[in-house]
Amino acid sequence: MRAAVLKEFKAPLEIVDFPRPTLGDGEVLVRITAAGICGSDVHMWLGEDPRTPLPMILGHEGVGVVEEIGGPSPKLDLRGRQIHPGDPVIWDRAVVCGKCWFCAVKRLPNMCRSRWVYGIHKGCSEPPHLNGCYADYIVLVRETKIISLVDWDDLDPAVLVSVGCSGATAANAVELSGIEIGDSVLIQGAGPLGLYLVGYAKARGAEHVIVVEGVPSRIELARRLGADVLLDFASTTAEERREAVMSVTRGLGVDAAFEAVGRPEPVLEGIDLVRRGGTYVAVGTAVPMGTIPIDLYHHVVAKQLRLQGAWTNDTRHIVQALSLVRGNSAVFADMLTHRFALEQANEALQSMAARTAIKVAIVSFADS
Ligand SMILES: [Zn+2]
Ligand SMILES: [Zn+2]
Repeated sequence: MRAAVLKEFKAPLEIVDFPRPTLGDGEVLVRITAAGICGSDVHMWLGEDPRTPLPMILGHEGVGVVEEIGGPSPKLDLRGRQIHPGDPVIWDRAVVCGKCWFCAVKRLPNMCRSRWVYGIHKGCSEPPHLNGCYADYIVLVRETKIISLVDWDDLDPAVLVSVGCSGATAANAVELSGIEIGDSVLIQGAGPLGLYLVGYAKARGAEHVIVVEGVPSRIELARRLGADVLLDFASTTAEERREAVMSVTRGLGVDAAFEAVGRPEPVLEGIDLVRRGGTYVAVGTAVPMGTIPIDLYHHVVAKQLRLQGAWTNDTRHIVQALSLVRGNSAVFADMLTHRFALEQANEALQSMAARTAIKVAIVSFADS
């Protein structure tokens, strides 16, 4: 069972053959039909993510088909449906304890102290080895939350992979923002995260969704998801963007703004465009990126800004992402710009690193 293994940061991944694992009770062996390349994977490959041990199998976004279920007990998905070999499934990339203060009391499983994620936190030296999605197969531990996809008629697993990470994270960010019907929203960046934010903001009833983005193909996808005002970062000045936002919001500023660029530079411009008493959500910066100077009085206190971080997601946000993709499947299909085979995992990472792609997936071409 092959996997693309990261043995050394910045070096090419190597295809390694692992033995077929012996499953414990409740464990599920899944044949991966599509693995998403996340922007975070590029950071991990470069050694910029503090969480990753070596050697490891990258890939925390996956869709697959159940190959084998360990033990005698029936295996159920989140809706209580029994899972059988041959069923298409998606799963929560995070495994949490369910018993700690954050899981049980604060209902913030994304803050669980024991939380770990397939393709991020575990090395692959020990059996069953297969714990990342850049592989032919993955072993899901008993506690993994699985969603059966048997009722997805037109299933293209590659189009669905992004729901597990960027789609779910964006749903969490939008929930935390508290957007209401009629609100004005600014989204900085229209990569996968920003595009999901556009879709959710419109679904929540935002009247004006303003997107700042420099790549024409991304601007077009944002427009198709319902963005009303599209500001080309490449051909506008900060002053022109400010005029455009103030014109749409009658001089007030937006109710909520989102950083979905993955860098801290746009944050001050974004905060400046939020209305008094509004919310700024930082969600795109997923690795340490240094500091930015915030004028606490002007930026935060005197305008009563709510500065909100958004880190990953809970399982309900994956369900929300599935719902958004189902309602906009043609747009999300076009968001997936590149498909590669497992043995091209390095090219897949490079295309994401070069930002030539919007969304990239490693697919099992036998399924497509
Ligand atoms: Zn991710
Ligand atoms: Zn916990």
